[in-house]
Amino acid sequence: MPRFKKKDLARPSLNYSRRGFRLKDGRLHLACGIVLTVVWSRQLPAAPSSVRLYRDALGHWYASFVVPARVEPLPATGRVIGIDWGVAQIATTTSDEHDLAHAGYGRKAAERLARYQRMMARRKPQPGQSASKGYREARRQAAKAHRKVARQRQDAARKWAKKVVRDHDVLAVEDFRPKCLAKTTMARKSADAAIGTIKAELIAMARKHRRDLRLVHPAHTTMDCARCGARAKHALPLSERTYTCTTCGAVSPRDKNSARVMLIRAGLAPAGADRVRPDRPPDSQAA
Ligand SMILES: [Zn+2]
Repeated sequence: MPRFKKKDLARPSLNYSRRGFRLKDGRLHLACGIVLTVVWSRQLPAAPSSVRLYRDALGHWYASFVVPARVEPLPATGRVIGIDWGVAQIATTTSDEHDLAHAGYGRKAAERLARYQRMMARRKPQPGQSASKGYREARRQAAKAHRKVARQRQDAARKWAKKVVRDHDVLAVEDFRPKCLAKTTMARKSADAAIGTIKAELIAMARKHRRDLRLVHPAHTTMDCARCGARAKHALPLSERTYTCTTCGAVSPRDKNSARVMLIRAGLAPAGADRVRPDRPPDSQAA
C-alpha cells in the first residue's frame, strides 16, 4: 500500500526552474537573494534548465543540474555481445573478456554496516525520549557505510559499462526483473541491487555513445539451446552449472549458453559473436 511521507522525516529538497536560479562566476544564485558556493564535480556541458538542491542521509547538500544529454558516437567495431545477469557472476557475456564477477567489497561493507546497526540497537532511545548523541552518531556511521557501498558499486558499474559499450556495436541484454531472484536470501537481494545498478548504467552508457542496445525478455533463456534452438523440458536447477542439450548434444557452461540465447533472441547472427566457432555451418544456428 502507498504510504504518506512524513513531513519531519522526509529529507529536504528544493527545485528551481530557469527563472529561479542563475550561475555567476561559479556560484549559484537562487531566488530571494541566496548565494551558494558550489564544489563542482565537473564542468557543465551546456546551460542548465533547472537545478535541484537536496540533502542526503549524512546531512550533505548537493546541487543537481538538468542539462541536455550530449551524444558522443564511438567508432564502429563490427562486434556484438549477449549479456546474461546472474547471482554467481553478475554478468556473463558471449565475450570472455567482458564477464563481470561479483566485487568483493560487499562483505566487508556489510560487516561494518552490521556493527553500526548493532550500536544503533543498543543506543535506541526509549519511547518518548529524544535520540542520544551516541545513537545519532551510530546512525550517521551506518548511513556513511551505505553510501560508500553505493558509490563503489556505481563506479565499478560505470567502468564495466564503458568497456562493453566501447568494444561492441550491438548489445543484447537480458531484461532482468529484480523480483525473480529477490525472494530468498540476503546474498540474492544484494545481487539484485547490484544488477539493477549495472543494467541502468549500461543503458545510459549505450544511449550516450549511440549504441544499439536491445532488451531481451528473460523467459526460458536458461532452457533454450543456443546451438539448435531446442527448449529443454524442465528448467535447470540453479546448482546445475552446465547446459547439456538433449536434442543436439551441445554442452556449454550454463550462463554462457544463456548469453548466446540473448544474441539469437535479439536477432543477431551468433556467427558474428565471440566464442562461436566459425567452422560451424550457419544454417545450424537458425532457431
Ligand atoms: Zn541443442
